Amino acid sequence: QCMVEMSTDPNNNQMHWVGDGFPVRNLFSYDRLGQAISPFLLLDYAAPYPFQATTEQHGVGSHPHRGFETVTIAYSGEVSHRDSSGGGGTIKTGDVQWMTAASGVVHEEFHSADFAKEGGLFEMVQLWVNLPAKDKMTPPKYQGISADEIPNVTLDDEGSNLRVIAGTYQDQTGNDQKGVASTYSPVNMWDGMLKAGTTHRFFVPETHNAMLVILNGEVVVNSDQTVKANSVAVLARDGEADFEVVVNQDAKFLILTGEPLNEPIEGYGPFVMNTQAEIKQAFVDFQSGKFGEIPTEA
Ligand code: MN
Repeated sequence: QCMVEMSTDPNNNQMHWVGDGFPVRNLFSYDRLGQAISPFLLLDYAAPYPFQATTEQHGVGSHPHRGFETVTIAYSGEVSHRDSSGGGGTIKTGDVQWMTAASGVVHEEFHSADFAKEGGLFEMVQLWVNLPAKDKMTPPKYQGISADEIPNVTLDDEGSNLRVIAGTYQDQTGNDQKGVASTYSPVNMWDGMLKAGTTHRFFVPETHNAMLVILNGEVVVNSDQTVKANSVAVLARDGEADFEVVVNQDAKFLILTGEPLNEPIEGYGPFVMNTQAEIKQAFVDFQSGKFGEIPTEA
């Protein structure tokens, strides 16, 4: 079975605010893990946080991205997005927004007006997925994926489950369950809940990097590595294709696997490219208005 190469320390990632709407912890980032997690770049987790009812907008206003994709999973609450390519929409509890910035967007991310008005617990994940060099300057794209489009696989009789957001998962009957997200490189993205006292075995395509993200709860991987809430186990690529998870406490998890891009990663703030010259160009293009503007509301 795959060995755990490293797991992150849950005490190392302090909560910080993205705008005034997203109280997140960064659970992994390419600036520390680099090629070992390619094509994934970073993951921010906003653990459940209570927001009071308000008529104000909570979130983050107009800002650019180029060279990658942002994937937002709403676990509780609603996020509205609008971007300069005309993409936009609101994702509700259980939905996923897959936003391909590619050649460049300016966008804004706010709690939806309905959620803000009611208030309540807000919980989400935002993951950044890198694009292959050949796709970094393709036109932007927006996929809003509603919860009812996401295959939900029952893992045991105790209530453990897994949703296939992207890629494929082979269920216990041997059927392939396919996620509807379209991706630029081969990735699997599964999320779900593992119930305490259960044991699971997950298979990773041999050519993929793989990570197990534990949002809350606690598991033991391959009998020896405890992975706690707000941390990540990176699995070594040693030709082995599976790993075992024993669940100590009900665990909310993500499994991310992907074929590494094997290309240089140069990132600065909201831009992730292959060279420093391309980063400089991104600043020039953004400052000269080439990313466009968010359309004003009709
Ligand atoms: Mn953004």
